[in-house]
Amino acid sequence: MQLRFATNISIEQYIQQEAWKYAELERCPLHPEGGCKLARHGTYSRKFPDGANIARWYCSDGKTTFGLLPDCLSSHLPGTLIEVETVINQIESAQSQEAAAENIRPDIGLPGILRWMRHRLFLIRASLILLIDILPLLSNNSQVNLSSLRSALGVEFVLPHLRELAASHLDILPPPLGFGPRPQKKYRGKSCFQQQTGPDPP
Ligand SMILES: [Zn+2]
Repeated sequence: MQLRFATNISIEQYIQQEAWKYAELERCPLHPEGGCKLARHGTYSRKFPDGANIARWYCSDGKTTFGLLPDCLSSHLPGTLIEVETVINQIESAQSQEAAAENIRPDIGLPGILRWMRHRLFLIRASLILLIDILPLLSNNSQVNLSSLRSALGVEFVLPHLRELAASHLDILPPPLGFGPRPQKKYRGKSCFQQQTGPDPP
């Protein structure tokens, strides 16, 4: 089970400081009343970025392992939330998804990169739709996108901040922002999101 490690440090600082050593889990999510055998359970390594470890706890009563994911890292996707947001920005500011694809991942073929991009786009838009209902900050908006949120919060990258703002709802939000289940993969093939690319409306 993934849990939030609340920290505003960058991924570079996280690796350099070996910040996973300072992650703490005060109580077991399965047994908040206490009494279970919750103990540190070493770390596991993320494939990307190299050198990033995740602190782990284990509850033997609940037979469950907990990983404490820092706010800079994506859940269930390689890399950081800033990397995901950068990709979404490139897609939304390009003339078309195909045009964005050429700049984003020239190392893989067009069908593969489109699938890779639409996966991220779908997951983030699914999260934003849920967040409109969850966050009072967004309740006056029927349509929310990352650039409007960046402006509203006055930040360069908004996804790590959304991890913090939505901290008590991460179990229902899909990855890479939340720790909940992936939504149905309806983005495969001809996606409805295809019509939604291009610059943000004025
Ligand atoms: Zn427990």
